[in-house]
Amino acid sequence: MFHYSNNYYTATMRYTSPRPTLIGNVQADVCVIGGGLAGLSTALELVSRGRSVVLLEAARVAWGASGRNGGFVLQGWSEGLSSIERRCGTEMARALFKLSLEGVDIVRETIDQHQLQGCAPTSGKLSVLRYDDGDSLQRLRDRMAKEFNFEMEYLDTHAIRARLNTERYFHGLRDSHGFHFHPLNYCLGVADLIEAKGGVLYENSPMIRVKSQGDRHQVVTQQGVIDCGSVVHCCGGYGGPEFGRLRRAFLPIATYAVLTEHLGDRLRDTIRTTDAVGDNRRASDYYRVVDGDRLLWGGHITTRNVQDEKRLAHMLTDDILNVFPQLRGLQIEKAWSGLMGYARHKMPHIGMLSPGIWACTSFGGHGMNTAPIGARVVAEAICGESDRYRLFDAYGLEWNGGPFGPAAAQTVYTGLKLMDMFQEARSTRRAAKH
Ligand SMILES: Cc1cc2nc3c(=O)[nH]c(=O)nc-3n(C[C@H](O)[C@H](O)[C@H](O)COP(=O)(O)OP(=O)(O)OC[C@H]3O[C@@H](n4cnc5c(N)ncnc54)[C@H](O)[C@@H]3O)c2cc1C
Repeated sequence: MFHYSNNYYTATMRYTSPRPTLIGNVQADVCVIGGGLAGLSTALELVSRGRSVVLLEAARVAWGASGRNGGFVLQGWSEGLSSIERRCGTEMARALFKLSLEGVDIVRETIDQHQLQGCAPTSGKLSVLRYDDGDSLQRLRDRMAKEFNFEMEYLDTHAIRARLNTERYFHGLRDSHGFHFHPLNYCLGVADLIEAKGGVLYENSPMIRVKSQGDRHQVVTQQGVIDCGSVVHCCGGYGGPEFGRLRRAFLPIATYAVLTEHLGDRLRDTIRTTDAVGDNRRASDYYRVVDGDRLLWGGHITTRNVQDEKRLAHMLTDDILNVFPQLRGLQIEKAWSGLMGYARHKMPHIGMLSPGIWACTSFGGHGMNTAPIGARVVAEAICGESDRYRLFDAYGLEWNGGPFGPAAAQTVYTGLKLMDMFQEARSTRRAAKH
């Protein structure tokens, strides 16, 4: 029997009643496997189109990454736009960027339209630069406006430091389209909407295998079977060998977050914005203020899932104090980890795996907008409305490196961290000279 883990979101979650375990045989048009944001959004898109849907969740609704993340809902994908452009060309990169914006809008509109409780959406995201190169940031702003029709505001050192009281940051870009929110309450709200539209959710009901015969599929759990016309795999970083070749195409990567005690004026003097903040590091630190005077801070990725709360608290406190030394002595009240599914190409797996079997997964560290739009294009395809899922044709099931995958990923990450440190040290030396 799975229970929600102890984190900020579960401590502030809206009421939700447990869903039953699947027992016996059930029929549906579509079976969605996985009850994170990808699975829930897929189910909602499908029931809204009149399909009968059963969703199977191995643990609880949004028990995985979707219920314990940073809560940033922003344009873009886990893979950077320039890399997408290099692989797919400018036109395709534009189309994919547009989809990512639609993903942000889906979440915002769903909250507004259904007045979902406890989501606390708050507009604004600051991307801050930890070294002194405002020109490159202004070029990026201009390119985003010209080529992707996306406006951002440039903030110079004075403007950034007026908002964030630290000498670590030099420049920033403000995205007013993005927002941050309570992801677990959002998912619980979506789960209620699915049920209100006739969808059925089962918890503590892991899929064990899928058997296909002609155009029917049997999704088998410990105590039941779902007979359906289509199956959508939405397992995120938590899927095991039961997902077959899909599992061999992603790596589960762990990442971490902490919540501080109430810091009162110490925090208000330090962070003078309600925007979410993320730095430019390749493996970025990101944070936001919650409950008025507490810091929710995230960062680090590892291929081994560190779950020792004391160690996590220590690790992320060091990161916080590196940026805001004036907060020395702060207490961490909660520390937690979560798994993300990453493909080697860092784009999601969205598309048909075999007739009637779909993937909508591997959203990496950027799933809050991409999972909802991934869900929409898969639902459109199942209902014969569009072939927008083909925009992801360039991002198939590349082998994850098998037993060597985690070591390779950790080496790449360490290399990226060293590059960040080198660039920042150079900038600090330059600043000291002037
Ligand atoms: C600490 C952290 C911070 C993050 N911050 C951000 C952020 O600020 N913004 C952002 O955009 N993204 C962020 N991400 C990434 C984001 O959370 C994920 O990309 C997104 O939640 C993925 O959703 P999902 O539905 O694919 O996966 P999940 O939410 O992990 O859901 C997958 C579900 O599938 C279930 N499952 C697995 N196997 C089976 C099976 N056999 N049968 C049935 N069910 C199964 C699991 O139990 C799980 O509930 C963060 C992630 C973490 C961990």
